[in-house]
Amino acid sequence: MMDKYTGIGASDGIAIAKAFLYEEPNLSFEISEAEDADHEVSRLEAAIDQSREDIQGIRQVAQENLSAEEAQVFDAHLTILDDPELKAGFVGKINDASLDAPSAVREVADMFISMFQAMEDNPYMQERAADIKDVTDRILAHLLGVKIPDLSTITEEVVLVAVDLTPSDTAQLNRNYVKGFVTDIGGRTSHSAIMARSLEIPAVVGVGKIASQVKDGQLVLVNGSTGEVVVEPDQATLDHFQAEKEQFAKLKAEWDSLKDADTLTKDGKQFELVANIGSPKDLDGVHANGAEGVGLYRTEFLYMDSAEMPTEDEQYEAYKVVLESLAGQPVVVRTMDIGGDKHLPYLPLPDEMNPFLGYRAIRIGLDQDHLLRTQLRALLRASVYGSLRIMFPMISNLNEFRQAKAIFLEEKEKLQAAGHEIADDIQLGIMIEIPAAAVLADKFAKEVDFFSIGTNDLIQYSMAADRMNENVSYLYQPYNPSILRLIKFVIDASHKEGKWTGMCGEVAGDQTAVPLLVGMGLDEFSMSAPSILKTRSLISKLDSQEVQELARRAIEEMDSSDEVASMVEAYVADLD
Ligand code: PEP
Ligand code: MG
Repeated sequence: MMDKYTGIGASDGIAIAKAFLYEEPNLSFEISEAEDADHEVSRLEAAIDQSREDIQGIRQVAQENLSAEEAQVFDAHLTILDDPELKAGFVGKINDASLDAPSAVREVADMFISMFQAMEDNPYMQERAADIKDVTDRILAHLLGVKIPDLSTITEEVVLVAVDLTPSDTAQLNRNYVKGFVTDIGGRTSHSAIMARSLEIPAVVGVGKIASQVKDGQLVLVNGSTGEVVVEPDQATLDHFQAEKEQFAKLKAEWDSLKDADTLTKDGKQFELVANIGSPKDLDGVHANGAEGVGLYRTEFLYMDSAEMPTEDEQYEAYKVVLESLAGQPVVVRTMDIGGDKHLPYLPLPDEMNPFLGYRAIRIGLDQDHLLRTQLRALLRASVYGSLRIMFPMISNLNEFRQAKAIFLEEKEKLQAAGHEIADDIQLGIMIEIPAAAVLADKFAKEVDFFSIGTNDLIQYSMAADRMNENVSYLYQPYNPSILRLIKFVIDASHKEGKWTGMCGEVAGDQTAVPLLVGMGLDEFSMSAPSILKTRSLISKLDSQEVQELARRAIEEMDSSDEVASMVEAYVADLD
């Protein structure tokens, strides 16, 4: 009997193969005490040593299979394995609570994992919980004598079906045999989803209950773009997926051929396609997908990655790596955007009724200006290594930009006086993500070098619809003419002053929005790296006059997001 499931499409492509059910090793046991603490500590140490060998081996496979950057996940695992606080926790439980080694590891691991998991609004910290679980499960497996299944030994074509896949599981996947994977849990930003994208293995995550339903050897179809999964398909469904698979292979080849191409419309108008990154680790994806620069470096992830405020030198190193890697292509670095859903353990923020309307981003930077000054100094010092553009988040009025710019100039002067070399062409811009700034864009355009439209926030503030609240997610309406009018006004205002406008919110890579944005003359499109090539391909099919007319009709004649979407989708369907 055919069964259909839907999850989150995490890595594009179609897979058709037999299910390989991957079950987690059984690590259950009763918490118990032990008399001989020294014996337990030496058992623990032996298990940690064996785990270290395992992880080093997996890192080796990952380095061959994946990029150096992805293999770094296992450096992070080695760091967790040798973390003194964790080890002291285990030994403390053995000595003070007289627990045996497995019980000590389980209790301490559970405590750390639930602490990170409790940061519900913070996917980054939740992923750290997954890393700690991955490492401590391995220690436990050695202590309990349980074998961890070896995915690298799969030797026939399969679709892997699992409750979850850890980064170590994913790194061992051989893409010659593992044609796709499907998991019950996970989101687009979980490590395994990110790795699936770089391995180019079609993947659907967050399906709910599939692992307990599917049996080994059943035929499984996976569409990693739409999130569809079909088990034991009928002939018509199988034929349909086969046809889509061939179609996707053709599309992919077409996209890949554009890796080194300029981004041009059919009639030769040029646009800039750049990538959003959260850390230097994302640079491989930037290059692999033919980005023409970085349009948004979310530096808050650098702050969130660390147990304490990163020093000026640490920040300088991170910015320098990114600038050097881009070898003269533009890099837009956004100053710290903390607050809202992003918190730092070492920077206490007040409890607020409406954190997205509260103490956030540039508001914190101007209030606690030593934070902004440190970051700007690090950026100024790194500026000689590439083409740096700095932008300030959450600007709502001109005064904020003027203050931030004054701080920038003061720090620049101080550094120059101290003999530092600093690039003389650093552009200063702002995010347009608050409607008040969008409406005043003509005034801002006289003072800034560029705008970057942050649609994730601009839409939530314009529609008064919290971006984290699924009950109002229907109000996330990127093609609503009200939003399109704001965007158009901002682009036109910048052009009147000879400035440029980019977009770094999710809408920039939205295939329905792209024709409209091209039609409105957006200069720079910044998106997650895997969306770049398909967007370049789409732009190459557009005629600039036609999409200009499309945008005009959307803005002047239409009155709903749906109406606009239907019009654009019909237009795109007709393109060759
Ligand atoms: C935005 O608001 O669109 C944006 C790019 O910033 P963030 O998603 O980090 O708030
Ligand atoms: Mg934002």
